[in-house]
This record gives sequence, structure tokens and C-alpha cells, in this order.
Amino acid sequence: MNKILEVFGSKVFNDAVMRERLPKEIYKSLRKTISEGKNLDVTMANVVAHAMKEWALENGATHYTHWFQPMTGITAEKHDSFIISTENGGAATSFTWRQLIKGEPDASSFPSGGLRATFEARGYTAWDPTSYAFIKDDTLCIPTVFCSYGGEVLDKKTPLLRSMEALNKQVLRITKLFGMNEVVRAVPTVGAEQEYFLVDEELYKKRKDLVFTGRTILGASAPKGQEMGDHYFGTIKPRVAAFMRDLDKELWKLGIYAKTEHNEGAPAQHELAPLFEDANTATDHNQLTMEMMKKVAKRHGLACLLHEKPFQGVNGSGKHNNWSISTNTGVNLFDPGEDPYNNLRFLLFFTAVIKGVDEYQDLLRLTTASAGNDCRLGGHEAPPAIISMCLGDDLYAVLEAIERGEKYDPKNNGKMDIGVKVLPDLPRDGTDRNRTSPFAFTGNKFEFRMPGSALSIADPNTALNAIVAEALCQFADRLEKAEDFENEVRALLKETVEKHKRILFNGNNYSEEWVKEAERRGLLNLKSTADAIGYYVAEKNIALFEKHNIFTRSEIFSRCEIEYDNYCKIKHIEALIMVEMAKKEIVPAVSAEITKLAGAAEMIKSVGGNNSVEVECVKQMSAMNVQLYKKIELLEKAMVKCDKISSNSEKAEFYRDSVIPAMDEVRKISDELEKISPDNCWPIPTYAELLFNV
Ligand code: ADP
Ligand code: MG
Repeated sequence: MNKILEVFGSKVFNDAVMRERLPKEIYKSLRKTISEGKNLDVTMANVVAHAMKEWALENGATHYTHWFQPMTGITAEKHDSFIISTENGGAATSFTWRQLIKGEPDASSFPSGGLRATFEARGYTAWDPTSYAFIKDDTLCIPTVFCSYGGEVLDKKTPLLRSMEALNKQVLRITKLFGMNEVVRAVPTVGAEQEYFLVDEELYKKRKDLVFTGRTILGASAPKGQEMGDHYFGTIKPRVAAFMRDLDKELWKLGIYAKTEHNEGAPAQHELAPLFEDANTATDHNQLTMEMMKKVAKRHGLACLLHEKPFQGVNGSGKHNNWSISTNTGVNLFDPGEDPYNNLRFLLFFTAVIKGVDEYQDLLRLTTASAGNDCRLGGHEAPPAIISMCLGDDLYAVLEAIERGEKYDPKNNGKMDIGVKVLPDLPRDGTDRNRTSPFAFTGNKFEFRMPGSALSIADPNTALNAIVAEALCQFADRLEKAEDFENEVRALLKETVEKHKRILFNGNNYSEEWVKEAERRGLLNLKSTADAIGYYVAEKNIALFEKHNIFTRSEIFSRCEIEYDNYCKIKHIEALIMVEMAKKEIVPAVSAEITKLAGAAEMIKSVGGNNSVEVECVKQMSAMNVQLYKKIELLEKAMVKCDKISSNSEKAEFYRDSVIPAMDEVRKISDELEKISPDNCWPIPTYAELLFNV
């Protein structure tokens, strides 16, 4: 067997394993649950549990855990071993259906946004049979959802699953109208391209900011950045290549289709793209991918940085969320085919997305809002905080024709002449190579580029599924009553394009003009997390989630609260680390250097030499050190004020308006000091060392 197939899925209780180990009837019934979303038959759980345990033990596992995704955005697990005692001090192993389908972790330290009363510390986890169990670190991990005693969701998976259900329901109404009666299930498909940085672990450990916040809170730019463009798709260095090979293998074992690995735009930045899967599995797999990246990096003496902006002035990292909808019959509903103008089904699904994105810009935006992503969005390498869509010229022209009620006339045959006779004509890719768009149609899928690298993709996909479900629902309501279906579809398309055209933009999203143009069009520009989160509880968003059974009103309020809280906590830690580093490392190091120089100046003077360089340096450095100290004090004052604010939303605004600007001031001086200080006196590894040392 070849190397890939030998390891792929070897640690996953996947379809092949189930088919081999489960009685036929049980296998079939479980299969139905997985592929058609049929309700789970509890009686079969015991058989599945036993088979799972036997398989896990044979594959070296000793423990099991319910693996879940609380609102912290990372995954959680609590390990139990399979051991039970028998008579006379003997031991055996056991794993029952109860242990498979339900767990009761003490949930008191997971964020609940007020949903779970503190006296009720229990939370429940429940088996999600649609995502395969797997073995990680000798532990059988069972993907589960996580909810409170009262049944309110406390995790990111449950709403995602609910949104997939909602989308499925509405898609089926539409496919039925198009006579696709063999379609019984539609799932959103997702491929998440993951960007990351690799730095030397020893250097990493010397920086408190990297260790505690994942980004450099201080640090001047390196003399060479990414301006040469020599890193993007460049040759991969041996140490990084070894990491990537190792990572691929680990991911394959877990059944993750790691596919493409390459260098990214910035020095030390890389990307991994997997093959797409259903949204639920893709989300689980992306969480695992991030975890594995960190683990495998360690083995290679590296640290993997998943923060959205680890280095100021250097490209940040995103996570491109590629999204489409696929039917159980294998049809990609966003495949435009040869003749999109006459492909009504495609156009209907396509415009549903346009409508959804325009009507729920705020929602899409806020699912990508985080303290980390605030540092990245609107920089010059990431889309601004304005949601717009790029469809590519051809499809844009199709929509314009529809809007004008004209026939679409493809101006050319869609072939690209590359001027070399021996090469075959390439079909021109009419869709986007415009990398600046936050939401681009790329051939047969949409690519949402706003999510940051550290984000769980559960939230953006929950929102995407929900907003498209709603648009399709409105379309279906109307079309189901239509007398002349085709005419009604055409009318609906025309109206939708007219109404939502403002969200379409094929130009350069990074330009200043676009910000103004977007404002003129009335598009939202929610610049920071503090600006965006509050939209969670906008009435129209609550209505959307309630209508499609994705969140209850109280669940939404709790999410909003948790997001504010997360944001404030992160900013708090960042500010503390900044004060600590500046006060305990930078200021003393600079003082020591000044003392040394002043001594040298004295000495030079005493022998009658020219000490003007030393004197000038002492003057400059000490003036700036004094300034730095003052700025630190101002930051500390702002933090004291901030601590007194009790409402999380007001606190978030205070961070935005007062603490962050105070931090910027500290950084400015500290970075200037770094530039004029001798290398050997600087107490922490510099950008040059971090970025060019792997
Ligand atoms: P790029 O964006 O660099 O051009 P690709 O076109 O190769 O890259 O695809 C990027 C990602 O999109 C991959 O993870 C791929 O699996 C995913 N993708 C491709 N088709 C679909 C689809 N129908 N649904 C969801 N994701 C998809
Ligand atoms: Mg991409």
C-alpha cells in the first residue's frame, strides 16, 4: 500500500471501521443518521460503544473523552480511563452506551454568558454521531455537543448543526421546485485554508508577549520585511519542510485531508489547505489542525503562531473559509455550468447568497470579530471591515443583463489566448483572482476571507448557513405559489439583483476610495470588535436565529455577553503584559545601557578624548526612556479606570477608545528606542531574529 493510504484515517473510527466491526443492521442505521440526518436510534448505542472501545484499545488507547467546543473558541476534553474493577482486585475495561452518548463535565469554568446558574455547575455533552470519533494521545475522542442543565447551548457545534439543518430544509424546498426529487439531503461544504507563522521555539520562549498573548506587543520592524515578495510560494526551508511533512502525516492519521502546503506572503508565514468536507466535519478538523500545528511545531523546536497579527507591520494570518452547498446526489448547487445566464437554478441559489450577505452584513462581520482580528482587518493585507462581494466580471455581467432585462451576450468565447501556439487554450477563469475581496465567488464556491487565523470557523459558517437559509425560505415562499414558475424565478432574480446590487464590488477593497464609496452605498463599516458585537442582539438577527431554530433569544444574549467578555479579557492581558515587559525589561535594559555609556563618556573625557557620540547617545536614550516611563504610567491609569467599569460593552468601548490608544503610545516610544539601542542591550528577541531565523 502507498504511504498516504497506509496512514490515512488510521486513528479514526470511520466508515470502513464501522462497516467492518458493526452488525449490518446497526451499521445501516448509524449510516442513515450520519448521511440523512435521521434521528439516532438509542438502542444501537451499546453495540457501537462496545465496538468503539475494542477498536480504541487495539489501537493503543487507554482513555476516552467527550471532545467539545465551548465558547472559548478552542476544544475541551476531560479524560476517563476504560478501567473498571473486578472481584479480588482485578481489572477489566468497559465503555457503555451511557458513556458514549452522554457526559457530565463540571462546566462551571466554561463561559456561559449567564445561561447557567452558578449553583448548577453541571453541563451536558452529547455524542454527535455525524463526526467520527478518533484517537489522539492514546485517548478515544468522541465529538460531542455541549449544553447546560436546562438545554441551552454552551458550545459552537450545536448552533452549527442546527444551522445545517435549517439550510437543508430550505434547500430541499427549492430543489423540489426544480424537480430534483432524488435530492433528500443538502449539506454546506467547507474548506478552510489555514495561515500560520513558525518561529524558533527558544526565541519564542524569551518573549512574554508571544507566550501569553500570541503576538508581539512591542517590537520594531526588521530592516527587511516582505517587500521583495521573495517568500510567497518560495522554496520551503528544510526545517519547515520537515515540519510540514510531519504535520501532514499526523493530520492524515486523523482523517484530515491535508492537501496543499506553501509559504505565504510574509517571512516565516505559511499556509495549509485541506480538501473540503461537510461544514461540521470541516470545523472539527480545523480545530484539530490548529492543535496539531502547535504540537508538531514543538517536536521540531518551533513555535506555531496562530494569532491574526503576530507582527505589526508584517502581513497577518487569516483563515479563508470556502463554502458551498452539495446535495446527496453529488450536485454542487453553486456550479454555474457552461451557460450561467440560462441556469436558473444556479442563479437562484447564487442570488440567495447575495441577498443574505447584503441583509446580514453585520452578522457576518461580527462572527469574525475578535481582539486578534482587529489588529489585522483593514491593514493592507487583509480585507477591511466592510463586507462586500466580488463575483468576477463574467457573472457580474450576467447579473447586469438580468437587471436590465436583456439577454446576456458573452463577448468572447471564454477562452484565453496565451499566445503560445503549442499550449492548449485555457478556459478563462471568469471568477475572482481579486484577493482583496472579503467575500468572493471563486468558480463554484464562495470564499469568505474575513475570518482570522485563530478563529473557530463554527460561527461564520453558522451565520452563512442561517442567512442563506432565510433567503431561500423567502424565495421558496414565493415560488411555491407561482403560476408560471420560470417567469416568477426571472422576476425574482431581477428584483433581488436590483435590491442588493450595492453589496457587489469587483474593485480594490484595500483602497481609500472604497471606504468612501462603501459609505455612500450605505454599507456597514464596523471597524472593531467593540463596534460589531452589539449587532448580535439586533432584533432582525434575533428574529433570524429564532425563526430557524438556531438560537433562542436568551442564547443570543449570552453569546453577545461572552464575546464582550472574551474581548475585554484578552485586551486586559495584553495591556498587563505590555506594562510588565516595558517596565521590567525594556526600561531597566535601557537604563543599564545609559549607565554603561555614561561611564564610558566619563572615562573618555578623563583621558582627554572626544566623547560626543557617547554623550549624544546618553542624552537621546535617557530622554526617550523618561518618555516611555511616562507613557507606561498613562497606560496604567487607563487600566485602573477600565477596571472600574462593570458593563462589558462599556468596557469594550473603553478599551477601544482609551486603553488601546495608550498602548499604541507605549509601543511607539519603545519601538523607537529599540531602533537606536545597540543590539546587544535589547532584552528580547527582535523581529529580524524571529522572522529570519528558521
Ligand atoms: P485558492 O483559494 O488558493 O485558489 P483552491 O481553489 O485550491 O485554492 O481551493 C481552496 C479551498 O477551497 C480548498 O480547501 C478546497 O478544498 C476548497 N473548496 C474547493 N471546492 C469547494 C467546495 N465546493 N466547497 C467548499 N470548499 C471547497
Ligand atoms: Mg484562498
